[in-house]
Amino acid sequence: MKSPDTYLLPYARVSWQASDAPFAQDYDDVYWSSEGGLAEKQHVFISSCQLESRWEELTPGNRFTILETGFGFGLNFLLTLQAWHSKPRPPNTRLDYFAFEKHLVNPHDLMKMAASFSLDAELKLFIDQYPMPVPGNHTLWLDDSICLHLMIGDIHDQIHDLDGKVDAVFLDGFSPDRNEDMWGDDLVQKLAQRLRPGARVATYSAAGALRRRLTSYGLVTKKLTGFGKKRHMLMAEQAGEWEPDKAKKQTIVIVGAGLSGLLCATALIKRGHQVTVIDQHAEPLGALRQIHQIAIYPKLSKSPQPYSNFYLRAYLYYLRHCPLNACGRIELLDTEEKCLYAAALVEQMPGFLELIDASTASARLSIKVDHPALVMSGAGWIKPNQLAGEQAVLRSKVTAISYAQGSWNIETSEGSKLTATTVILATGNESLSQLAPLELMSLRGQSLRLHSSEIGPKAVLSRDKTWFPIADGESTVSATYDRFDDDLSIRLQDTQSLLGSLDPYLPELLLEATDNTGGVGIRSATRDRMPVVDQLPDWQKLELYCQLPPIQRTGFDGHAPGLYCAVGFGSHGGTLGPYCAELLARNISGDPVGEDLQQISSSRFKFRDAGIKPRQKLER
Ligand code: SAM
Repeated sequence: MKSPDTYLLPYARVSWQASDAPFAQDYDDVYWSSEGGLAEKQHVFISSCQLESRWEELTPGNRFTILETGFGFGLNFLLTLQAWHSKPRPPNTRLDYFAFEKHLVNPHDLMKMAASFSLDAELKLFIDQYPMPVPGNHTLWLDDSICLHLMIGDIHDQIHDLDGKVDAVFLDGFSPDRNEDMWGDDLVQKLAQRLRPGARVATYSAAGALRRRLTSYGLVTKKLTGFGKKRHMLMAEQAGEWEPDKAKKQTIVIVGAGLSGLLCATALIKRGHQVTVIDQHAEPLGALRQIHQIAIYPKLSKSPQPYSNFYLRAYLYYLRHCPLNACGRIELLDTEEKCLYAAALVEQMPGFLELIDASTASARLSIKVDHPALVMSGAGWIKPNQLAGEQAVLRSKVTAISYAQGSWNIETSEGSKLTATTVILATGNESLSQLAPLELMSLRGQSLRLHSSEIGPKAVLSRDKTWFPIADGESTVSATYDRFDDDLSIRLQDTQSLLGSLDPYLPELLLEATDNTGGVGIRSATRDRMPVVDQLPDWQKLELYCQLPPIQRTGFDGHAPGLYCAVGFGSHGGTLGPYCAELLARNISGDPVGEDLQQISSSRFKFRDAGIKPRQKLER
């Protein structure tokens, strides 16, 4: 994805015509013909792509993928959803629907449309999950069998992020003479490259130029009867016989039962893989064993950067799919610099963020504070074990991991051996040799649990340290931050500094260090503070590749077969973890992915050091 210029894109400018049909002011065109939106969409897209008959051929574990150019009001999607739900589908089958959209329709306009078409029931399934117009991919699970991927932004900036092949394409980007850009040769070529054998492409346009383009990329085109007054429409089919897309089930060992390993396990089990999680510690959750509350919020830079855009979308994914105590997060602005930063953010994301003065902050927190604050009212906190799922963990220390004849052998300190097609290293700071080139840093964090059911803020209160609302008679104050330190013992001076961070709010209370419980966890972090969630390279091959003259660097493909990692989350595994686990599970399962994975790639540091700009997909 192109580096985003704004945190939020503008919504579509829609006006409603007398007939109650929406009109796109940005394109000077109607969203559908006045002869009836639903019937037209059904005829042109759903029927021509033979969705229903192809779905009849699906067997357990199959997936079907649709790509749409122009999500608009989502009529095609809602009709697809209705058709998918009209019959029971075999277990574990899945529909992935990737839709590109540059001007997202405002949710109010969407609801108005759904009511007029009696599609309220379908809309209800996803309106609560409908994203803010943040550029990039938004993954929305509507139920276990349907996943909508809204790729917000210009299709030309996003199409490179779609890695995977599709079974059907709906070309629905306004008429070619109003929006030529959506029908150009370059885009048609990229779409054609993403077709599975026998995949179908449908559109209401019967333009000769489009037909010739589709033919030139190897598709067999057919003019079909158009809808209503339109005489013709186009359907094109990729060469080859269409067969259902079967996902290969893997035997997977995840080393490390921290939050990252457990979230990956959940995402993989959901896809029917056989997963074993192994950890040397009796208690799961790694660095979070001692911490009962973690904050869920995105790390945002003053102006959007690729990492902050990723954070924001991962956070929105979290809000859609994970539990949260949504009490809000209030960040005190105790310097001029922080005030300027906060003001810049609020200006870019009004409604999502808010600036309040000290007295309003005190009222919202039920604690007297002396500074203005930045509020993110949708944010909050969670107990790590609420997020981790119920996955059983095999208690054992992994002593060696080796690859021979297409499978991985994992040896443990008890002398037992496991074999797997795939291994995920989610070992946090307890790094294995395969992760050494990532140069993960240990970050020691001591936190404190205040045993009091009376003193605590009503929202997550952040200044130098974070103080959480009371739950089960205690509240957490977290955390210290010591680089390259993996000492697990509790330090009295740290306990005192954590207690000291509360002094401004509790002047009359003397808290005793001994009355409370401390905990220490060692997080792992990377150089750029983003995690690494990816297949690992064969490090030697990567070194050699980086030394090649530029002309010979045509794309790095020397990955270690079936070896992945999910590490380096620092203090942000809660917010980033669920989305990263989803992406890794997609990657491992061969599911189509719509994300720019550079932010979390395993080779990014080596490429940066060698001054190499990664190529899309090939070198992630
Ligand atoms: N398929 C939609 C439905 O079923 O409701 C109707 C789509 S409408 C005819 C076309 C959509 O394409 C508009 O929402 C428009 O914003 C979007 N669009 C146009 N140019 C685009 C571009 N370059 N990238 C992404 N989306 C674009």
